[in-house]
Amino acid sequence: MINKIIKRALNEQDLKKDEVLDLFKTRSYENILKIFEAASELRDSNNKSIKLTSTVHLTNVCKITPKCKYCGFAAKTSSEGYYYSFSKTEDEILMAAQSVKKAGIPRISCSGAHGYNGQHAVQAAKIVKENTNLELLINVGSDLTKESVKQLTEYNTDTVCCNLETINLKLFNELKPGEKLKDRLMTCKMVEDEGIELSSGLLIGIGESYQDRVNHLFFLKEFHTLGEVPIMGFNPYMETPMENHPPCSLIEQMKTIAITRLVFQDMRITVPTPTIGPENVKFSLMAGADNVATVIPDHYPLDVKGVGSSTYGNFKEVVKTIRELGLNPEINEIPCPVKEVGITKT
Ligand code: SF4
Repeated sequence: MINKIIKRALNEQDLKKDEVLDLFKTRSYENILKIFEAASELRDSNNKSIKLTSTVHLTNVCKITPKCKYCGFAAKTSSEGYYYSFSKTEDEILMAAQSVKKAGIPRISCSGAHGYNGQHAVQAAKIVKENTNLELLINVGSDLTKESVKQLTEYNTDTVCCNLETINLKLFNELKPGEKLKDRLMTCKMVEDEGIELSSGLLIGIGESYQDRVNHLFFLKEFHTLGEVPIMGFNPYMETPMENHPPCSLIEQMKTIAITRLVFQDMRITVPTPTIGPENVKFSLMAGADNVATVIPDHYPLDVKGVGSSTYGNFKEVVKTIRELGLNPEINEIPCPVKEVGITKT
């Protein structure tokens, strides 16, 4: 049965919902290994290199109340996170972006908390796009308006991310009492309507069922501009309402990454280093991921705490891991040292 489903995926046929559920339900290690191998094979047949995405966190001052129960990013949520409030200045965002560019990392994610109608995102897009050649992902959740999405397009933002986390409404409302799933859905729709590439992912290990994951993956298929699916395993932050909830196991994360690859054969499948753990990046790649996120270069000028856990991947170590697996990290040619171009301000 599993062999037949895998064969259909390898032949680039669309899997049906019940087939995907069977893949999730399989418990035999032999079958799980076959799913990983098929996922890697599909990734390698469609994609010759592994994308690297760095990050800059714009602000942790979040106006969502009450806070999401798992959140350790917003100010005062966890002593393992940033804890103290910050909002990065234009110069700090520029310095961070330039250090990413200098390292040869091709892509940066600018993410931040809620309550700014997307204007923090627009400011970051302007700085990154007017001063670097980096590919840009913006992630401020549902804190975007039609107008700010339009402005992001004008600054040539490549991708906008709005993670639904889970489409199990009861679970969403329980874990995110200050947010509404419909607001996140509307944001994804606005991004699609604007013709920008959409990134939208799953937070797993939060009490969702396999059927929830299957429903979520098939729901995402409906967005025509979907180009990226992040798979994020839950890790508890101290002092949050979910501090005693068990972390998502590595095998569940690998299984979900691999099954996502069998469903979305040519899609960018992202694994943030904080959620899988920097030491486990190789397992995400063995499961068919092709984008490693929150990759921080040496000499990065800002303090970083990962989102999803406070750890993050070091650029050189991630590159070494990718090469050790015989894969090819996408790295931009490092430019010769030239006079730094000053910031373009409004
Ligand atoms: S997860 Fe995001 S939206 Fe929720 S409280 Fe934290 S920063 Fe705010």
